[in-house]
Amino acid sequence: MNSQFFDGTAESVAVLRDAVASVLDMLASNSPHQPFPARTPAELRAAIEAFDPLPARGVPFTDVIKEAGETVVASGARVVDPRCAAHLHAPTLMSSAATELAIGVTNQSMDSFDQAPAATYAEDHLVRTIAGVLGLPEQASGVITSGGTASNLLGLLLARDRAAGGANVTGLPPAAAGWRVLASQAAHTSVRQACAVLGLGRDAVVPVDTDGSGRIRLEALDETLRAAERHGHQPIAIVGTAGTTDTGAIDPLDALAQRAAQCGAWFHVDAAVGAGLALSHRLAPMLRGIEKADSVTADLHKLWWQPIGASMLLVRDAGSTHGLREPADYLNRAEDNDVLNLVDRSLDTSRRFDALKMLVSLRATGRDRLAGFVEHLVDLAAEAGRLIHAHPELELVVPPQSITVLFRCHPAVTTTDDDLDALNTDVQRTLLGEGRAVVGRTRLRGRVALKLTLVNPTATAEDIAELLDLISATGRRRTANCPSPRPRPGPHSSSPPEPDPPSRVDHHQKTPFGPVERSYRP
Ligand SMILES: *Cc1c(COP(=O)(O)O)cnc(C)c1O
Repeated sequence: MNSQFFDGTAESVAVLRDAVASVLDMLASNSPHQPFPARTPAELRAAIEAFDPLPARGVPFTDVIKEAGETVVASGARVVDPRCAAHLHAPTLMSSAATELAIGVTNQSMDSFDQAPAATYAEDHLVRTIAGVLGLPEQASGVITSGGTASNLLGLLLARDRAAGGANVTGLPPAAAGWRVLASQAAHTSVRQACAVLGLGRDAVVPVDTDGSGRIRLEALDETLRAAERHGHQPIAIVGTAGTTDTGAIDPLDALAQRAAQCGAWFHVDAAVGAGLALSHRLAPMLRGIEKADSVTADLHKLWWQPIGASMLLVRDAGSTHGLREPADYLNRAEDNDVLNLVDRSLDTSRRFDALKMLVSLRATGRDRLAGFVEHLVDLAAEAGRLIHAHPELELVVPPQSITVLFRCHPAVTTTDDDLDALNTDVQRTLLGEGRAVVGRTRLRGRVALKLTLVNPTATAEDIAELLDLISATGRRRTANCPSPRPRPGPHSSSPPEPDPPSRVDHHQKTPFGPVERSYRP
C-alpha cells in the first residue's frame, strides 16, 4: 500500500477496495471446517508465535492477511456452525460486519461533539429507540458500552451514587458499609465484580434463592429484605435478571420493581440476553415489568446479532447520569452546554462509533425478521427440550426457559452422581478437544450439567437432533471406559415437560438436583 490512510481520493478508494477484496478472499478460503480446531493450546500458541507483529519493514498486506487467515481464522471457533452452541456467542449480521469497516475508516470518537458531530446524535437516537422497544418512558436515555459487564457496572454505579445522594465527590459515606445489592443467586458474575469495583465489596451482593427454573423466589426475596432490615442494612439496588446465563430464566420483574419501589432501591435489570425477546410481540410479555426499571443492560452482540461489542446501558431518566459528568477544559467545557458530549454519560473517554453498525444493520434487517430469529431460537430450545426428554440416554435438567437448554448424559449403565459429573465433564472436554462440538458445561446445584445456548438463527431442528445424537454417542463411547457400571435408578418418565414460554412454564418443576435453601448472608 502506497497510501496508508483513507482520504476519499480515487487512489485511497482503490487501495481500500483491494484490501477488502483480500480480506474477503481470506475469509472465503479459511472458513473453519468444524466448530472448533482439533489442535492443542500448545500447537495454537506455537503457530501464532511464528508471527513477528512488528517487523522493521512492513510485509505486503495481501501476504499478511493470507497468513493471518491460515494461522488464526482457519483455527477459530466457527460461530455459524450449529454445533458451536456453548455460549452467548453468535454469528453476526453481514450488514453489521460490513459497516464495521466504515466505523474503522471514519473513526468518530464518541466522547465529544467536536469528534463525532452526527455520530453523537446517531448514538443518542439509537439508544432512545431501543429504550422505547423495552417500554421505557420518553425521557429515557442511555449510552453504548463494550459489553454487559461494563453496562452492569455503569448501572450499579448510578444506583450507588443515588444512595450516596449525588455524584461521588467525597467518597463513600460510613453508611455504605451497610449497603446491599440484592440479586438472584443465578445473577451474572459481573454484578459481584461491579460491587468490588464500586468499593462496596463483592459480598455487598446478597444472593436471593431461586426456584427450580432459576427465577428469583419472591418469598425468598421478601425474607431477604426483612433480614436486611433486621441487620440494619440498606438495599440500595435490586437486580433482576432477564435471561440468566445458565437456565435462561427471567425473574418476576414486575414484582421486583414493586419491591424496589417499596424499599427505595434502584431497580436494575440485567437483560443482556433478554432484551432480544422484546423484538417479538409474542415473547415480549415475558419481560413484563422491565419498563419500570431505573436502568437496563442490553447486549446487542448476543440476540440482535451484532459483532462484539455492542451493549448499552439504558436509563429510565436521562437526568440520572448527570452525576457522571466531569468537565474538562479541553473536552466537555462547561460553557459549551449547547452541544451533547456523550463522555458525560460514559465511563469511557475515546470510544468507538458502534452505534453505526447497529443503526444500519437493524434498519436493513427490519424488526420482523429479527423477531422471527428470536422466536425460532426460543422454539428451537423448546424442541431440544422435547428431544432430550424423549432420549433414553439424555436427561433434561431444567425445562428450557428461553434459549438455553440444560441437560446431561445419563446412559443406561450409570452410576453415582459423582460418576455422572465425571462423565459429563469428559464428554464436553472430548467434543471440544476433537473439535467436533462446542457444548457448554456448568454446574447447577453443585452438579455438572451440559448446556446448549441457542443464538444461531441458521440452526435447524435437524441440526439440534444431530448434535444431541453426537453428544449421547460420545457419552456412550466414554462410558465404555467407565470401570464400574451400575444399573440406572428409576425409569424415564413418559410425559414431556411444558417448555413453552411465557405462561405455561412450571416454575416449580422439580429438577433432578432439587432446591437448595440459602440463609441471609449479612
Ligand atoms: C453476557 C452477559 C453478561 C456479560 O456481558 P458481556 O457482554 O459478556 O460483558 C452479563 N449478564 C448477563 C445476564 C449476560 O448474559
